[in-house]
Amino acid sequence: MTSQNPVFIPGPTNIPESIRKACDMPTLDHRSPAFARIFSPAVEGVRKILRMGEGEVFLFPATGTGGWEAAMANTLSPGDTVLAARFGMFSHRWIDLCTRHGLNVQVIETPWGQGAPLEAIEAALSADTGRTIKAVLATHNETATGVRSDIAGIRRAMDAGGHPAMLFVDGVSSIGSMPFDMAGWGVDIAVTGSQKGFMLPAGLAILGVSPKALTAMETATLPRTFFDFADMRRSYAAGGFPYTPPVGLLNGLALSTQMLLDEGLENVFARHHRIAEGIRRAVAAWGMRPYAASPDLYSDTVTAVAVPAGCNGTDLVQLAASKYDVAFGVGLGEVAGKVFRIGHLGMLTDVMALAGLATAEMCMADLGWPVTLGSGVAAAQDYYRNAGQEAARAAA
Ligand SMILES: *Cc1c(COP(=O)(O)O)cnc(C)c1O
Repeated sequence: MTSQNPVFIPGPTNIPESIRKACDMPTLDHRSPAFARIFSPAVEGVRKILRMGEGEVFLFPATGTGGWEAAMANTLSPGDTVLAARFGMFSHRWIDLCTRHGLNVQVIETPWGQGAPLEAIEAALSADTGRTIKAVLATHNETATGVRSDIAGIRRAMDAGGHPAMLFVDGVSSIGSMPFDMAGWGVDIAVTGSQKGFMLPAGLAILGVSPKALTAMETATLPRTFFDFADMRRSYAAGGFPYTPPVGLLNGLALSTQMLLDEGLENVFARHHRIAEGIRRAVAAWGMRPYAASPDLYSDTVTAVAVPAGCNGTDLVQLAASKYDVAFGVGLGEVAGKVFRIGHLGMLTDVMALAGLATAEMCMADLGWPVTLGSGVAAAQDYYRNAGQEAARAAA
């Protein structure tokens, strides 16, 4: 029998049965009106979840990384300057992608565990008197460290100096799980993928693109073919795609956006916050702490648990997989071994979270780490019993 255990990695996330079924479709002609009936609700659902104003949603057969590439290639030219802070593996990889595309990346090195440094960003923008910075890149939720950054704060820093740069946000592990306000925060491109908050298999890069970024496209000269926004736009206008779309995934996206909107985005965010808070209570009961430097930075979708001295987080992840058939996330890059990560986004309930915590505890005990079995679980149980999920369910 294949395991029925949920995964506790921060993507890909658990897939609801109904979404799995929606993805399993017979072949359909993607140039027929039947395709448009799948495609347009998917696009409209994404638009609502991003809280977009004007602008376009683009869905590419790719992943979040492809979404970054599409964002850069459509709006910038070789040699253009972008500003980015590096404070984890995902912010690092985006910077690397820009460098490989011949962009000039002005990097603000920031300790891992911190979020986007607002003062340093504001200082860099005000020092840029020649207005050479074309875009500010921000990783909303750094999945490697479990750190959430203040995107509204970055927008304020940009507006304070009247800097005209575009604001591009990686929301791959936040969108659909944590509050995201593309219009309110003045985000020019929001990037995500299908396999995290949207609870789908991997395979779609999902982008929201503002009118300002669409205008930048007209003069941007980085090469693009597969990811060309203009080709997409022309085909969308005719109800289709410039090439063969993954119809099953798009049908799944139409359902997943509907499920999130039916639950109510505020309820979805409250559920993620509640589950995350229970997990943080458990971590504290273990005598450990999240790697994120301060509570205002705590992510509601992933917790990187700093392990005690002498312990190796990767050992726990490997044991959980081999002995209990449960997936946790390993530490990446600079924090390899120093943390293990609990992903808590997507289709998750309090009860599922308790199972993950119980499994982590068994692994710690097996590895001889200093933990009392049940301590973290009890702390989370206490929290979940009284955390108001009945009210949330009644509202849904
Ligand atoms: C998962 C993730 C990515 C990469 O997405 P892929 O879909 O694996 O290409 C990028 N950024 C963040 C913050 C992520 O969590």
